[in-house]
Amino acid sequence: MEKNAKIFLAGSKGLVGSALKRCLTQSGYTNLITPEIDELDLTNQQAVTDFFAAERPEYVILAAAKVGGIHANNTYPAEFIYLNLAIQNNVVHNAWKYGAKRLLFLGSSCIYPKLAPQPMKEEHLLTGLLEPTNEPYALAKIAGIKMCESYNRQYGTKFIAVMPTNLYGPGDNFHPENSHVLPALIRRFHEAKLAAAPEVVVWGSGTPRRELLYVEDMARGCLHLMELSDEQIAPELLSYPKPCFVNLGTGEDVTIRELAETVARVVGYQGRLEFDASKPDGTPRKLEDVSRAHTLGWRHTMSLEDGIAATYRWYLENPEYKR
Ligand code: GDP
Repeated sequence: MEKNAKIFLAGSKGLVGSALKRCLTQSGYTNLITPEIDELDLTNQQAVTDFFAAERPEYVILAAAKVGGIHANNTYPAEFIYLNLAIQNNVVHNAWKYGAKRLLFLGSSCIYPKLAPQPMKEEHLLTGLLEPTNEPYALAKIAGIKMCESYNRQYGTKFIAVMPTNLYGPGDNFHPENSHVLPALIRRFHEAKLAAAPEVVVWGSGTPRRELLYVEDMARGCLHLMELSDEQIAPELLSYPKPCFVNLGTGEDVTIRELAETVARVVGYQGRLEFDASKPDGTPRKLEDVSRAHTLGWRHTMSLEDGIAATYRWYLENPEYKR
């Protein structure tokens, strides 16, 4: 990828997109196209077609998506399936139609079966039933993977995908109900500390296990894959029936209880933890096998505790981000 190559970064405002934008800029890429939602509505087929016809980007990174934590997925299932299918349909199809050299699609570890063997390998896709709380989102992301794979098979495109595990970091959504577990806990523990509250409520039983990846590590992983030549990725990602996607994670997980205790330590909260069993646990365990990403030359660098500390600092410095 030339430093002045035209790169369309779809979705540059969220947690993932803003990290990708920083990473691309810091790595010397100068020709990024990052339209805002009022300039380009990615769910509008005609608008996306016109955009590709006019811009003809050489590289496409599809980081735009409707995302949220367990409660949001459970509450807005129609939006999660419709918006994600619409966005990826429009972007992937037009990337092929207007000759993009490479597309990177961003998925999620929730594409794997609820009871997949742990750690989950790319080959475990579609080997069992999905977790019901995020099935609509997961189905859209699986369709996105299969779209990349199908276009590669029929048209010889070089469309690949990454499946990051639960992401967190600067730019996160700290909404009390709709966010993911880590930003929700950072906010709750911080507010409890300020209020000197005797206890903090954590959803579910505290026993589910989650793997968390710092978003800057994910962004480096995406760029690493985009920078590999076609010859370098071909044996792993472009030789069907091998899956055209790669897990991005740390290969280590913690229980929600351990996660909450770590957040309490970083924030400096000394009260009690209370578990609210009326809230859903979701998948019992979600740990990725990251050996394929390691084979391709990427591994994470940020430890969980340092990553939580960096995210907490960012939260304190950006109070306007409390959506
Ligand atoms: P998931 O990994 O797709 O299930 O999504 P989340 O990031 O929302 O993680 C959910 C896990 O964290 C579940 O086991 C929840 O019960 C637990 N959890 C504990 N407290 C919270 C919270 O305040 N918000 C969220 N989203 N999850 C929480």
